[in-house]
Amino acid sequence: KRTSPSQTEFYQAAQEVLESLRPLMIKYPKYRQHKIIERIVEPERQILFRVNWLDDNGVIQVNKGFRIEFNSALGPYKGGLRFHPSVNAGVIKFLGFEQIFKNSLTGLQIGGGKGGSDFNPKGKSDNEIMRFCQAFMSELFRHIGANTDVPAGDIGVGGREIGYMFGMYKKLANKYEGVLTGKSLKWGGSLVRTEATGYGAVYFAKYMLEDRGETLEGKRCVVSGSGNVSIYTIEKLYQLGAIPVTCSDSNGMIYDEAGIDLELLKDLKEVKRVRLSEYVKYVPTAKYTPIEGYPEGTNGVYAIPCFAAFPSATQNELNLADAKNLLANGCVCISEGANMPSTPDAVDLFVESKICYGPGKAANAGGVATSQLEMAQNASMVNWTFEEVDAKLAQIMKNIYVSASTTAAEFGEPTNLVLGANIAGFRKVADAMIEQGLV
Ligand code: NDP
Repeated sequence: KRTSPSQTEFYQAAQEVLESLRPLMIKYPKYRQHKIIERIVEPERQILFRVNWLDDNGVIQVNKGFRIEFNSALGPYKGGLRFHPSVNAGVIKFLGFEQIFKNSLTGLQIGGGKGGSDFNPKGKSDNEIMRFCQAFMSELFRHIGANTDVPAGDIGVGGREIGYMFGMYKKLANKYEGVLTGKSLKWGGSLVRTEATGYGAVYFAKYMLEDRGETLEGKRCVVSGSGNVSIYTIEKLYQLGAIPVTCSDSNGMIYDEAGIDLELLKDLKEVKRVRLSEYVKYVPTAKYTPIEGYPEGTNGVYAIPCFAAFPSATQNELNLADAKNLLANGCVCISEGANMPSTPDAVDLFVESKICYGPGKAANAGGVATSQLEMAQNASMVNWTFEEVDAKLAQIMKNIYVSASTTAAEFGEPTNLVLGANIAGFRKVADAMIEQGLV
């Protein structure tokens, strides 16, 4: 039942999952008897709170804070915090819902949660970011803990924000524990966590392609976004011999025929924190197109011919027209670094065309999986090497691919990883809910 008009993204995510589950529900009546669908779409707990903070002019600012603790059948709630003006209860609910199945697919003991704020970090001073993070944590701290709910980063929340929030949690809770992941390597972080979502999305593409006798080597790829996921997608693409030729932000895109200059991109985005349009000042042969210059009704990134595409910015950034452009230009592989970046009609087209299509909840699960590896290192007080964590990440992405593709085959649609990921992710959570009783 759709009773809240403001939950558009949540209904979109729920509809996709529920449609995929039809064959499972028919084959196994126990899920209907236990009313698992009715139970799983309701969050176990939703927390909404006010965040007051002082800007640099001494003016009081007020934002909304959210944390959704959606499902704890498989472990402590786990999922990122997003700081972006577009954040509302519906967006957090969609992200939390997706997180349940994604976390299940990793094979690790983590439940689903998500949170954030409508705070806009863009243009804020470092002091303003710190004061906001402290104000946000001054309420959130009472709801989270290393064994109850362990947030991480997402859009607008990286290492700097995690640091400020961790400092405030430690002070208020009087505990030094692994309550957040994505921490600095100097005080409890895990190697590869920063890189994990992007690396994981590329590993996922590699495994999908391997099954069809293909590789990424020497192939042109398009990437959207220029944040954490995009940067490390580009890095891993280079490591596998591919040529990433685009990246973007909310103002426009870069097309660099020679391949994106990764060191420059990191400097602009991670150090200088400036807009992507600056890229062409350093690489005059690259082309910058502002969004007003994109072909009408499309995202310019997907009009560039490529072998594989890595949507890595935000939800619904790739529509039917973009999907048609990609296929017409010969794209055979989509691996989603972002959460729900493709609109439902675009997803349908990818599935029907039987290209390699890795939906976000499978392809971008490397981030949360490595967060769990950070929790494991924190709990055991042992630090693993970069190579150890990277090897575990690659193995987890392989397991997710195998789980989604064998489940898809079990239900008669071997190339449909949307079906396979949704059923495989759901089944484990549903069985745990049944075994744990009506709680
Ligand atoms: P970042 O904040 O580091 O980067 C986000 C990038 O996407 C920026 O380039 C940003 O541009 C762009 N972007 C954001 N919103 C919009 C928009 N409305 N229109 C156009 N561009 C936009 O975030 P992440 O890289 O961490 O996250 C990207 C995606 O990956 C999200 O969907 C997130 O949920 C998903 N994800 C992230 C994980 C992680 O570990 N970080 C894990 C799993 C999924 P601008 O600077 O102009 O806003």
